[in-house]
Amino acid sequence: MSLPSFQLLRPKTIAEAVALLAEHDREVKIVAGGTDLLPSMKQKLFTPPYVLDLRGVSELRGIRDVAGQGVEIGALTTLSAIEHASIIRKDYSVLYEAVRTVASPVLRNMGTLGGNVCLDTRCLWYNQSLLWRKSCGFCLKKDGDLCHVAPGGKFCWAAFSGDTPPALLCLGAEIEIVSSHGVRRTPLSEFYVNDGIVRLRLAPNEIVTRVFLPASAAGWRGSYHKLRIRGSIDYPLAGVAVALKMNQDRVADARVAITAVNPAPHLVKDADAQLIGLAPDEGLAERIGEMAARTAKPLTTSALTPEYRREMVRVFTKRAVVACAN
Ligand SMILES: Cc1cc2nc3c(=O)[nH]c(=O)nc-3n(C[C@H](O)[C@H](O)[C@H](O)COP(=O)(O)OP(=O)(O)OC[C@H]3O[C@@H](n4cnc5c(N)ncnc54)[C@H](O)[C@@H]3O)c2cc1C
Ligand code: SF4
Repeated sequence: MSLPSFQLLRPKTIAEAVALLAEHDREVKIVAGGTDLLPSMKQKLFTPPYVLDLRGVSELRGIRDVAGQGVEIGALTTLSAIEHASIIRKDYSVLYEAVRTVASPVLRNMGTLGGNVCLDTRCLWYNQSLLWRKSCGFCLKKDGDLCHVAPGGKFCWAAFSGDTPPALLCLGAEIEIVSSHGVRRTPLSEFYVNDGIVRLRLAPNEIVTRVFLPASAAGWRGSYHKLRIRGSIDYPLAGVAVALKMNQDRVADARVAITAVNPAPHLVKDADAQLIGLAPDEGLAERIGEMAARTAKPLTTSALTPEYRREMVRVFTKRAVVACAN
C-alpha cells in the first residue's frame, strides 16, 4: 500500500497548470486535496508518471459573492471552508447540509470542492488493494475484461459517490473548465456520464476551475439525507438532496437529486412538475420518494444490498421534502 513513484509538478498559476497538462497529456493525474486520489494510487488503481499538484494555484481558492449573480467557489476551496461560509449556510442550505456530511472534519480540511465534483466512481470490486484485485480477478474498470457485479455485460456500474454534486444539481450550478485551448462553462447537469468508467465530460488536459451557484437559487430551502455505514466518516451508499423555493406554504420551484445509486448523480425527472403550486404533505412527499426510488438503479457495488439502498432513497426523499416544507 505504498505510493508508486511519480514526478510531482507544482504550477503556481492556472496558465502554468494547463501548459503542464498539455505537455504531459495522458501521463498525468491532477491532485487537489488528494483524499481520494492518493488512497487509489496506493491501491495501484492509478500509477501515473506525473502528478500535477494544484495546491500552489492560489487563484483557484475562495468563495466570492458576486452582486446580483450568485456565488463563485474556486475548485481548490476546501469543503471545510464551504461548510463554514455564512453565505452558503444562509443562502444555499442544501449545499451546506451536504458538504458537512462528507467524510470527517480532517478529510474536509484537505478535500476540495473540485475533487468532490470530479470524484472517481466506487465499487466493492475496484476500491481494493492490487493483491485483493489480483486474487479475485480484475474487472472492466481496471485491467480486466468482465464485470463482477453484472457478469456478461460490458458496462461498469460503479457508483458516483460524492455528496456535494446532488446539492449542486438542485441549485442549478454551473462549472468552469479550463485547458490550453481556452475556457468553457457548462451546467453541472451536463458534466456527468452515466458510465462508471467514463464518468465525466472532462478531457485529460482540462481542469475544473470554478463552481457557480446562481443568484436565482439563493434562499431556496434545502435538505440532504445520506446513508452510510459509519456515521462519522463514510462515503454515501445512497444520498438525496431536495431544494424547494417556497411562496408562503406553496412550492414555487423545486429540484430533487440523488447520488451513490447510479454511475452518475441524477436530478429526478419531473419532480418539479409534481411539486410546483402545491403545499407539500406526507402524501405528496411519498410520491416524490417513489419517483426518486425509480431513478435509483443501485447494483451490488457496496456492502449494503441494492434493495435496501433503493428503499432508503425513497424514505430519505420523503423525509427531505417534508423537512423543506416545514
Ligand atoms: C475515509 C474516506 C471517507 C470519505 N468519505 C466521503 C464522503 O462521505 N463523501 C464524499 O463525497 N467523499 C468522501 N471521500 C472522498 C474525498 O475525501 C472527498 O470526495 C473530497 O472532496 C475529494 O477532494 P480532494 O480534493 O481530496 O480530491 P483528490 O483526491 O485530490 O481528487 C479526486 C479526483 O478529482 C480529480 N480532480 C481534483 N481536483 C480537480 C480539478 N480541479 N479539476 C479536474 N480534476 C480534479 C483528481 O484527478 C481525482 O481524480 C472520502 C475519502 C476517504 C479517504
Ligand atoms: S461495476 Fe463491474 S466493472 Fe465496474 S468497478 Fe465494479 S466490478 Fe468493475
